[in-house]
Amino acid sequence: MRKLASVRFITDVKDHPNADKLAIYKVDGWNVIDGIGKYKKGDMVIYCEIDSFLPIKPDFEFLRKSSFKKMGIYEGFRLKTIRLRGILSQGLLMPIDVLPSDKKYKKGEDVTDILGIMKYERPLPANLNGEVYGDFPSFIVKTDEERVQNMDYTDLKTQKYTVTEKLDGSSCTYYFHEGHFGVCSRNLELLESDKNTLWSVAKKNNIPNKLESVGKSIAIQGEMIGLGIQRNIYKLNNNDFRVFKIFDIREGKYFNIDEMVQLCKQLELTTVPVLDRSFSLPMSVDDLLIYAESHSSLSEVSREGVVLYSNELQNVHFKVISNKFLHK
Ligand code: ATP
Ligand code: MN
Repeated sequence: MRKLASVRFITDVKDHPNADKLAIYKVDGWNVIDGIGKYKKGDMVIYCEIDSFLPIKPDFEFLRKSSFKKMGIYEGFRLKTIRLRGILSQGLLMPIDVLPSDKKYKKGEDVTDILGIMKYERPLPANLNGEVYGDFPSFIVKTDEERVQNMDYTDLKTQKYTVTEKLDGSSCTYYFHEGHFGVCSRNLELLESDKNTLWSVAKKNNIPNKLESVGKSIAIQGEMIGLGIQRNIYKLNNNDFRVFKIFDIREGKYFNIDEMVQLCKQLELTTVPVLDRSFSLPMSVDDLLIYAESHSSLSEVSREGVVLYSNELQNVHFKVISNKFLHK
């Protein structure tokens, strides 16, 4: 589970250029708009990031009008990027005393569970979910990316990156392990069915045989895009599976980018667009957010963003979502 709510400090406070009663509070890479005078620089606060799904509680009732949502059997409030008087605001600040006062809290502490917060996930349509075979296999890691705003940018800047386009589709994992070929959506393994897009693409592209031919236990993870998926922003007239990660199940480790590109070539699979193999991070997070706002390399639309992979450290990777895209 990702940290959605954590203890942080206000790093800066600015006046709102278009509203006297509002201020822009900076917390690490995030900007949050709230009433003026509520917090000052250096205050300890709770910051809940976008995509938090807050429980129904009196403390959060003020969000009902703007943010009430259902997610499966749950009801709650979903935090999204909003624009207040022309300025972007992302997430929610709360005074630290919302937390139980029986202990001391420290910087960075994860308070997601204490506050009963979950990650908001869009329900998947029937063609992507279908009947369930079982839980997502425990020997494969689910696909997920941390946001750059939550990372130590100064530290990240010491490395070079491979930049890939973040595609707006649905997560898909194909694996072959102990004689079994499996198909998984974001959180579940799916029963074989012709009505399911992930399964039909697998069969059409001969993916079960391709994975078996590799001769080891392997999981190929990527984004399914095109017809019937999200809003099909790329306007494809079929479906396309674009690989972004390959996992060696027995070794318990990921292929590096070169190995991934090589195996995809061999199996005639396509990767997500690789935009740069030796990218240096710009000065600030804000500059990187602007870089993310370009057009897609698949068609004439704005891209969702980019996912960066460190060329030196395998476990360093993160997403940079275009604020233009988020706000649409
Ligand atoms: P949503 O439900 O709004 O689509 P999401 O599934 O995109 O959210 P995020 O946490 O925003 O979730 O982003 C992580 C996901 O991005 C991954 O699970 C993967 O499905 C998808 N993705 C798309 N392109 C890439 C890429 N180039 N590299 C890694 N992940 C990618
Ligand atoms: Mn997505």
